[in-house]
Amino acid sequence: MLYVVATPIGNLEDITLRALRVLREVDLIAAEDTRQTRKLLARYDIDTRVTSYHENNERTKADALVGRLEAGESIALVSDAGTPTISDPGYHLIRAAAEKGVAVTPVPGVSAAVAALSVCGLATDRFVFQGFLPARQGKRRETLRQLQGDDRTLVFYEAPHRIREALADMGEVLGDRAAVVGRELTKVHEELLRGRLSQLAGELEETPARGEFVIVVEGRGETPGVDEETLRAEIGKLLEAGRSANDVAKLIAQTFSLVKRDVYRLVLEVAKRR
Ligand code: SAM
Repeated sequence: MLYVVATPIGNLEDITLRALRVLREVDLIAAEDTRQTRKLLARYDIDTRVTSYHENNERTKADALVGRLEAGESIALVSDAGTPTISDPGYHLIRAAAEKGVAVTPVPGVSAAVAALSVCGLATDRFVFQGFLPARQGKRRETLRQLQGDDRTLVFYEAPHRIREALADMGEVLGDRAAVVGRELTKVHEELLRGRLSQLAGELEETPARGEFVIVVEGRGETPGVDEETLRAEIGKLLEAGRSANDVAKLIAQTFSLVKRDVYRLVLEVAKRR
């Protein structure tokens, strides 16, 4: 049997009784980072053998592990934190095991995405888990554009050194929507930042971005609509006041949670007719 075991994302108490029993009883634990997993095992006096199974040896190691499973051993797959395979390794092993007819069972528990969703206060009846956005801006914006029209709540993981640019790009491409940043969830410095994307980017600007982050952004459908006539009138007023087309597009996009590129087109139209 291959057990896919969720482990804590910070607070070591966030582990189920079944997970502890399984980790104690299996023949082998396949861990993304053996040092990290040994800390958890030490906390619960578990001395099961641990082997490494990570991004770089995933494919080759999967075959060896499936061989052991076929020979009758039981293995628990764990990642550094949370649920294996959710933005973490595990896919190849599970697929290879399933192909060989080995039984695979989940031992469910924490995932940072679900933890963040549970406290975000945005709609959670339907959501899209995007995980990490591409590191390069062009690709990141392209991915965001694909999500632009989705009315479901969006969930992202982001690395601390990219959190500000990611929030800024989200604001640019998705419009200035309501969002929640969950930082260091379940840990000592847990923090939930709520606001518009532009505000959140600003808040994180002030302090060095450290820690682990989940970003939850409201879907397009939740943004209250605004009719075009109102928009044209507002744009007209700002142009009248001497603001540049770019400034006007930015302001209107922020005020009405719209996509700047779309507003810019309208601004040019209004400017032409004046
Ligand atoms: N498998 C994990 C899960 O189920 O959530 C996710 C692993 S992924 C490699 C790590 C990312 O998850 C981090 O970069 C961060 O975006 C998010 N994350 C993990 N722990 C977190 C925490 N305590 N608070 C906020 N985000 C967290």
